[in-house]
Amino acid sequence: MDNNFIHEFIDEDIASGRYGYEGKPIYTRFPPEPNGYLHIGHAKAICLSFTTARKYGGKCNLRFDDTNPGKEDTEYVESIEEDVRWLGFEWDKLCFASNYFDRMYECACELIRRGLAYVDDQTADEIRDTRGTLTSPGAESPHRGRGIDENLRLFEEMKNGAYEAGEKVLRAKIDMASPNMNMRDPVLYRVSHAEHHNTGSAWSVYPMYDFAHPIEDAIEGITHSLCTLEFEDHRPLYDWVLDSLEWPAAPRQIEFARLAITHTVMSKRLLKGLVDDGQVRGWDDPRMPTIAGLRRRGYTPEAIRSFCEQIGVSKSNSEVDVEFLEHCVRDDLKAKVESRNVVFDPVKVIITNYPAGGESGAALEYVTMENSRENPELGFRTVPFGREIYVDGDDFMEVPAKKYFRLFPGNEVRLKGAYFITCNEVVKHPDGSVKELLCTYDPATKSGEGEPGRKVKGTIHWVEASSAVKIRVFEYGYLMKENEDGAYEFDPNSVREKICYAEPSVRDAMAGERFQFFRHGYYIEDAKLTDASPGGEKVFNQIVGLKSSWKPEGK
Ligand code: ATP
Ligand code: MG
Repeated sequence: MDNNFIHEFIDEDIASGRYGYEGKPIYTRFPPEPNGYLHIGHAKAICLSFTTARKYGGKCNLRFDDTNPGKEDTEYVESIEEDVRWLGFEWDKLCFASNYFDRMYECACELIRRGLAYVDDQTADEIRDTRGTLTSPGAESPHRGRGIDENLRLFEEMKNGAYEAGEKVLRAKIDMASPNMNMRDPVLYRVSHAEHHNTGSAWSVYPMYDFAHPIEDAIEGITHSLCTLEFEDHRPLYDWVLDSLEWPAAPRQIEFARLAITHTVMSKRLLKGLVDDGQVRGWDDPRMPTIAGLRRRGYTPEAIRSFCEQIGVSKSNSEVDVEFLEHCVRDDLKAKVESRNVVFDPVKVIITNYPAGGESGAALEYVTMENSRENPELGFRTVPFGREIYVDGDDFMEVPAKKYFRLFPGNEVRLKGAYFITCNEVVKHPDGSVKELLCTYDPATKSGEGEPGRKVKGTIHWVEASSAVKIRVFEYGYLMKENEDGAYEFDPNSVREKICYAEPSVRDAMAGERFQFFRHGYYIEDAKLTDASPGGEKVFNQIVGLKSSWKPEGK
């Protein structure tokens, strides 16, 4: 990973011995809240925290920031572990913030004893209404002057379940006139009787993020706490908590820009809404920007890591074009996967002068095809060819458009890896749709065995009809589209299902195997959908098309 501003800060800290870092390993963490599946924004944070630790020979923890009962669930805990590992990272320790609840409670009592926290009886509305504005100071709570003993007793009663949610909170005693709103006596603890996924009903009070997070970091010996930009204004509070507790060698919080990508959303709350409303097939729907969705879509960990590395880290939020993400997966797959012939919207072609078979059906011959244009190491395969084949619907036009060089009546094209054929006649169904094309081939044009003296402009692919394998293919648009006001809304028309014909070897595709479907794009076998496939057909998801209008900057 290139040096970035975060690494520059760390270098400075190491050089100056500031925060007591000399001799201490650099320690980072990735701290998701287990209230949903991880998305590609999290992948950016994961890559950054893990590779930073790696760069300095340090360590990185996976820590579940599970201080919010009610919204959190073990399903999410498990999916997060799976996703981090799948991305290619292994944590030093697996931690749960909830394992520190005793210690956090003790820290809160310590703040009370130091006169730095008090129990407030005001409602959430009252607290909000007395916070003041950016231009005017807030008003102090009537309970701000409570004595230490009374505060300790009330806080203990809160812990023991004597109060309902919202009846009382613990607040830091800082400065109601601070220009930073986060410093105006922020709430540190609240009452909640919700069941916690880890601690059950043991607790009736739960720490707020701004209080819990610095303590979690400090307990684990984190040296650099990397988080997104929205926490920049919270940094004084992060530092205040640890200063007030006189924590030695406290961690340093460094913020970086959140990842946003066009045509999708990156908020667990919004993504969960799509799942709960049944608008997508689940957290791993191939249109979702979740790691699980991208995995099912056929993205590789290498492609996602390369994307995260190339977008880099900065201090200003910006939106990355989704085509850059697509470029990264195409770039990763192009030399890795083999090509197969698959015909979409099939049109049957009968080669009338090709020898018909005997009693056993059509006489097939076998032609050799390269498995990859990009990577000769992927070798060759043989593919059957015969009198009846299918070609793509798009490769035929009864009345050709300008500059259309593929099949149309009277025109000759090259069948990739086989012969030149000329279209002589279009046979139609009674409803006027195309039934089949009658063509003739030139036996002297077999690929690799010398070319005749004439040129053809179009080369198309094909699949021999009697051995063709029927498959189902899902193609995807973007999750979100812009509405009239320019805002994103879910696009319900972002999936298309197609029945296609593939060359016979596609029958042997393994679960999760990826291919390039020649001239179409990259596809992955979807084992879940194949298992549920009514006719037993293999089902494929489109990973990405072949071409993009996206160009690297300056090219
Ligand atoms: P969401 O709003 O999607 O729920 P979050 O920030 O609440 O996101 P957390 O589980 O708290 O999600 O995030 C864990 C870590 O991942 C945090 O350090 C957070 O800063 C980082 N993170 C979350 N979203 C992004 C993003 N879009 N880009 C970069 N980092 C992110
Ligand atoms: Mg969050």
